[in-house]
Amino acid sequence: MARKIAKPVGKAASLGKKAKKPVAAPEVAAEKWSAPTVVKAFTRFEAANPEPKGELEHHNPFTLLVAVVLSAQSTDAGVNKATRALFEVADTPQKMVALGEEKLCDYIKTIGLYRAKARHVIALSERLITVFGGAVPRNRADIESLPGAGRKTANVVLNIAFGEPTMAVDTHVFRVANRTGLAPGKTVLEVEHALEKAIPSRFMLHAHHWLILHGRYTCLARKPRCQLCLIADLCGFGEKTE
Ligand code: SF4
Repeated sequence: MARKIAKPVGKAASLGKKAKKPVAAPEVAAEKWSAPTVVKAFTRFEAANPEPKGELEHHNPFTLLVAVVLSAQSTDAGVNKATRALFEVADTPQKMVALGEEKLCDYIKTIGLYRAKARHVIALSERLITVFGGAVPRNRADIESLPGAGRKTANVVLNIAFGEPTMAVDTHVFRVANRTGLAPGKTVLEVEHALEKAIPSRFMLHAHHWLILHGRYTCLARKPRCQLCLIADLCGFGEKTE
């Protein structure tokens, strides 16, 4: 099947609003999925894993927000390793500010870019206290106004903490959406909108998790595990593995 490589103009995980890293060039399937194919795929995802969960450990909306900010360009497993001890001592904005930037750095120094991330976490905690009464706001604009938080952060927090049917597009979701033909797009935002349009509303709450987990454990970037894939017969990727 024909395959074309689009230019790498998409953007994945964000570290603040300035340092953004482009995602890899998407591998685009020759054909976009039809509506019945989308339903078939998500029906299978749902049957295989009815209540998918995110893998970032957290205790409340605030610790989820902090974990997402720390996860930019880092793995969830690496973030969890650092935050287990951190969240024992600082699970509210007030406690995080009291902990201070230097001590916070000690907890998270195994995470890439930890100094910049620590600055953001302290600054966003201060803003939560002064502007939002110490609570994580439940709307996109307010979350995106927090230091270190971009669109993806807002989508993850709204989805996991508040049960909103948002679609956070990370590198895994971006790859799966393009490679399979589910929702092709050259940028993260294009893919986000294409997924929102393509996926029926009854699947949207969990769609983000299903796609991330599929990309993380089955549709791997270099060697997709097509022989184990539950949507292999629907997928339009031209280089499926045997
Ligand atoms: S068949 Fe292969 S390329 Fe297609 S979604 Fe499954 S793992 Fe990914």
